[in-house]
Amino acid sequence: MSHFDNLHSLTSSITAVTSPLRQYLHELHSKYHPLTDGVVANYIPELALADPALFGIAVVTTDGQIFEVGDSTTLFTSQAISKAFVYGLALEDHGRDYITSKVGLEATGEAFNAILLDEKNNRPYNPMVNGGAIAITNLIKGQHPTERLKRILDMFKRYTGHSHDISMPVFLSEKATGHRNRAMAFLMLNVGIVSDNLEETLDLYFQQCSILVTARDLAMMGATLANGGVNPITQERAIDAQYVQDVISVMLTCGMYNYSGEWACRVGIPAKSGVGGGITAVVPGQLGIGTFSPLLDDKGNSIRGIKVYQDLSKDFGLHLFNATRCDRDLNAWTKGSPVDARS
Ligand code: GLU
Repeated sequence: MSHFDNLHSLTSSITAVTSPLRQYLHELHSKYHPLTDGVVANYIPELALADPALFGIAVVTTDGQIFEVGDSTTLFTSQAISKAFVYGLALEDHGRDYITSKVGLEATGEAFNAILLDEKNNRPYNPMVNGGAIAITNLIKGQHPTERLKRILDMFKRYTGHSHDISMPVFLSEKATGHRNRAMAFLMLNVGIVSDNLEETLDLYFQQCSILVTARDLAMMGATLANGGVNPITQERAIDAQYVQDVISVMLTCGMYNYSGEWACRVGIPAKSGVGGGITAVVPGQLGIGTFSPLLDDKGNSIRGIKVYQDLSKDFGLHLFNATRCDRDLNAWTKGSPVDARS
């Protein structure tokens, strides 16, 4: 049994103790659960089966406290959230200069699946759009496909503290229908950005997008980045410290699709969204946040998720560039609670 499992069996019985933050998250959940705007993703047929009522919120502090409400332990596919973390692995594999020569760092203002290349610099615009993410996946080292996939799964495990499965139905569904991504990959092959093992790279990309996670996992992954790359519970290092700020920066500039600029102004918390309905976010030095609700807006972001982050940012002054003191002191709100404050 891992340190993480032990901790959870130890703390799962502690449910009676409340904390102000846990109470606050409950209120947030009740406030936005009735919201039924948006649609579940349907361009990957298997994702259209998601239950629109699901809604979970989790917060993990860098000192290892977990606060969660609703469907915070329901599994769903990470989708584009994987892109941020695989980017970190590629940086470890090749270093910053080489990776930036292959994939840029500028937001596009276009949809995540736009067939678009920065032709001046002959590379995808950034690692969060599909083209950039496929090029990054292409660079993940490994002797053979299984080893490359295992390296990605091992990385997820370092961030969350437990092993992950892949949703075979979602993987096969996207493999069968992901022609747009295939077109983008061929375009990149044509200009020499990716190597010619395209089907292998696309499979790996579809597999990383199909890794099953929970809102709690997303909060733990965010908290690991917030904690300088070290999982706050297991104390295992998930990513070389020197690349943590690269990953967080690209989340802030490009993590929320073509809403990233507005998100940076309104919410100001580096985050990455996926069409499975998840959002993971990082408040450097303080916490990670994870939300899951599969109802999406027209850009691909979870509608309830955005609402939750807007409130958290405003109520606790979490905007990265907030220069004024906030009424509510988050540190005070997390005190006096058990390590696992699940309702
Ligand atoms: N697997 C999805 C795709 O490539 C990921 C998209 C997303 O979550 O933004 O279309």
